[in-house]
Amino acid sequence: MKQMSPLQEIRHSAAHIMATAVLRLYPEAKLDIGPPTDTGFYYDFDIEHKFTAEDLKGIEAEMKNVVKERQPFERIEVTRQEAENFFREIGQNYKIGRLADIPEGESITYYRNGEFVDLCAGTHVEDTGRVRAFKLLNVAGAYHRGSEKNKQLQRIYGTAFPDKKELKKYLHQLEEAKKRDHRKIGKYLQLFHIDEDVGQGLILWTPAGAIIRQQLQNFIAEELRKQGYDQVFTPHIGKLGLFRTSGHFPYYSDSQYPPIVHRAELSHLAEEGCSCAELSNKIDGGEIDGYLLKPMNCPMHIKLYASQPRSYRDLPVRLAEFGTVYRWEQSGELTGMTRVRGFTQDDAHLFCTDEQVSAEIEGCLYLVKVILSTLGMSDYRVRVGLRADDSEKYAGNLENWNKAEKVLLEVAENMGVPFTKEIGEAAFYGPKIDFVVRDVIGREWQLGTVQVDYSLPERFDLSYVGADNKPHRPVLIHRAPFGSMERFCGVLIEHFAGNFPTWLAPEQVRLLPITDNQNEFAQNIFDQLFSKGIRASIDSQSDKLGAKIRRAETEKVPYMLILGAKEAEQEMVSVRSRVNKENEGSLTVEDFIARVEKEIETRALPNS
Ligand SMILES: [Zn+2]
Ligand SMILES: [Zn+2]
Repeated sequence: MKQMSPLQEIRHSAAHIMATAVLRLYPEAKLDIGPPTDTGFYYDFDIEHKFTAEDLKGIEAEMKNVVKERQPFERIEVTRQEAENFFREIGQNYKIGRLADIPEGESITYYRNGEFVDLCAGTHVEDTGRVRAFKLLNVAGAYHRGSEKNKQLQRIYGTAFPDKKELKKYLHQLEEAKKRDHRKIGKYLQLFHIDEDVGQGLILWTPAGAIIRQQLQNFIAEELRKQGYDQVFTPHIGKLGLFRTSGHFPYYSDSQYPPIVHRAELSHLAEEGCSCAELSNKIDGGEIDGYLLKPMNCPMHIKLYASQPRSYRDLPVRLAEFGTVYRWEQSGELTGMTRVRGFTQDDAHLFCTDEQVSAEIEGCLYLVKVILSTLGMSDYRVRVGLRADDSEKYAGNLENWNKAEKVLLEVAENMGVPFTKEIGEAAFYGPKIDFVVRDVIGREWQLGTVQVDYSLPERFDLSYVGADNKPHRPVLIHRAPFGSMERFCGVLIEHFAGNFPTWLAPEQVRLLPITDNQNEFAQNIFDQLFSKGIRASIDSQSDKLGAKIRRAETEKVPYMLILGAKEAEQEMVSVRSRVNKENEGSLTVEDFIARVEKEIETRALPNS
């Protein structure tokens, strides 16, 4: 039994209460599972009837009855056979499947509340009366066990909090979040496109979205250069053997695109009568070599490090790349830009001595601070992921692990941001720091990580010559603090609700000639802005000025320049900004350009 946190217990108990209510109203429903999530809970149901929003209200009302009944949650230990007989008898076949997942030797338990009995390892609140503040949110399709090969079930999502006030706050946040949804804004402002013919979870950056990404990359690259990083480029595929050495293949095959083996080799083997299973064994075992669409950039950067002899005087070697990687995510997990299958990490690998580790990590954290504060995201925390003592999944020796964990904790303590220790959240090759930012409406987003790795340098037998003239093993630090450009841009769209600061805005200035008579004047100003690298366009549609202003506003352009007969005659522009929403008076073109250039150069935030 894994003890849940008090909040998880409330949410998970709410899932039991929901299942109780659903069975009262829809006795024919078949139940799968109902775990707590980061923001609430869900339960999956197999039922002919399609749940509607109206049904959710009815279920919620029945849940209130179950809460009023204050049914105690009772733990009952049973044998595998008893459990199987029971669920067969009541026709809950998914439970029999789930029963089979429980390893031999582990105890099997029911939890009973009132008339409802669930196969569950716990844990729960004492009785249903403890779940006081909850709300059902929506229903969505979810494949059984997340696989498209299985039946699609109906997943009812809800949330629960210790009290009504916290629930209300969260529901308000959800409303705000809906308005800011990057999928909606991204579509409206044409920032990115996902096309079924290209593939799910693969982002096509539109010209407007590409500007935002390029500006961000320039900004990050500039900061990296100041910190002594070198930029590199590496290919999208590499030999399977490389990823065997790194340990990424075949152990993580589930989260990778399948290996690429040339058709000629496959048909040759097929002629020999090689079966699919044999083929896949040969690939896994290394008898057939192919290529892997890279799930990580590390092995390639490691090969760059190893491509020449290194002395302690060369260290730290800091190799940075906006490196595109591909990972297989269940299609049900994909969301807009924030959960994708192909993404470009703001990746870098630092090769350093033991003594340099803490200074390098401090450097990483400093960089994150600079970039997040420039974007108005100063509210963030870090999670330090440590190893779980009892697990054998970790690579490397314990002494190195302890060393690395100690360093990460020290640096986290010194940097003066809130941090939590998360036991069991380390990577398989070393402990890590995760960044979690809070956006303007209070939602938390996990960005990227900094990870200390003593394992890959061993696997690739990396070395440098020390001051003692002897070979030593460098330490490897992986860092992609913003995660990926896709995810980070998705988060930024929501953070700014599409109102990007001028330096990031795809279109910075919209020119609004009042009549066609000012078209030539508009073109003249456009040319001046263009020559300064300011991104502008002319709205030469035949609408009235009011309509042009509204259009520029809904398209979230930071500046509008209103150009009438008077302005043309005086060679002035009448400025209207997105922030102030009113005419700010006339400026000469030179003064306006100076103002915008300063705003861009300082990367000023929209309301500063
Ligand atoms: Zn339970
Ligand atoms: Zn890496």
